[in-house]
Amino acid sequence: MEREPLEALVLERMRATLAHAGVNPAWRRRLGDARPEDLKRVDDWQRLPLLTKSELRDSYPFGLACGQRPYARVHMSSGTTGNPILNPYTARDVAQWAEVMARCYVAAGVTRDDVIQITPSFGLFTGGFGFHYGAERLGAMVIPAGAGRTSLQLKLMRDLRATVVTAIATYPLRLIEVAHEERFDLGSLALRVGIFGSEMWSDDLRGRIERALGIRTFDIIGMTETGGPGLGIDCAARAGIHVWQDHYHAEIVDPATGAVLPDGVEGELVVSTLTREGLPLIRYRTHDLTRVVSRARCACGRTALRIDRLRGRTDDMVIVKGVNFYPRQIETIVLRQPGVGHEYQVVLDSDAGGDRVTVVVETEPGCDPGVGARIRREVHDALALSPEVRLCPIGTIERPQGKAVRVVDRRAR
Ligand SMILES: [Zn+2]
Repeated sequence: MEREPLEALVLERMRATLAHAGVNPAWRRRLGDARPEDLKRVDDWQRLPLLTKSELRDSYPFGLACGQRPYARVHMSSGTTGNPILNPYTARDVAQWAEVMARCYVAAGVTRDDVIQITPSFGLFTGGFGFHYGAERLGAMVIPAGAGRTSLQLKLMRDLRATVVTAIATYPLRLIEVAHEERFDLGSLALRVGIFGSEMWSDDLRGRIERALGIRTFDIIGMTETGGPGLGIDCAARAGIHVWQDHYHAEIVDPATGAVLPDGVEGELVVSTLTREGLPLIRYRTHDLTRVVSRARCACGRTALRIDRLRGRTDDMVIVKGVNFYPRQIETIVLRQPGVGHEYQVVLDSDAGGDRVTVVVETEPGCDPGVGARIRREVHDALALSPEVRLCPIGTIERPQGKAVRVVDRRAR
């Protein structure tokens, strides 16, 4: 779609979303006297209040839900404290999800001739079902493997000639590791595309996965609150993540003040849904850090807004001795070293001397023992921190079932 009609469509759908949410008294209280007809331009949206994660939690189970009941489905975020965040889907929401997920597959070059193995879990977590609906919509064959059972995953992948694998971003590392342990020949796979998301993964990690599996990877974004994966994906041009603007409105705000930032400046991603019924979102603070890369047409031909790959989350920023950093900055340094594995952990302790940082990395047999000093020096150059670096054999760091644990904070509160 050309930019101009796209903007007009966005404005029309903003008005419809405001009207739809306004039916629920809880939304009306939040939005005050904002009326759909007051939205004259897309930028008028910035006058509406921001919605926080805690407000969504406090509205458990259906306080901010809208749309025709009974709902068709509910999904839930894996929150660590307090109430979970529920997202109720109407039948139209499920169809919308299939549509945006199918688009993501197409952007990744996937067609109906592909065989798609889905490795995220099918359940309250949105991953499995989202990839499933998109694949059905596309008409491709699905292997709904779900989470875990890595040996079986490899066997099915090989024997059923899977060409596409979808996963949370660190799961491919598990596939590679188990293949190595079991002397499984990764060269026997027919994989060509990987679609990964739900966790931060650096460009260096991406490179390692692509080389080991012989695939091209694509970074998909989205979360339970926005209706699962499918908010956007990067394309073959690898020039930013396209956000499907006819369904989602993205803004970047200053995490401290909430003010909208100019294009190119990094800040917190704020998402509004434009077509969701069960849980419309108006200016939802995601805690994800990124920036607008471009609003111009991409080399791939798409006109949808491009944002940068997610750089971290406002809530996983680590502060040690007045220095702020994100685990990903350490990851970039660690993965650059030859002979070092892909698992690492940043451990924070405190004692009488103050906070201490230890970077635990796994090394292959025969790895240069000088690598620890090198990592320490590079972390110091990049972040002005001098961590201890502990080297240990591959397999020492615990592999969790779900998302990777990169920071272990043992400091006294
Ligand atoms: Zn593109």
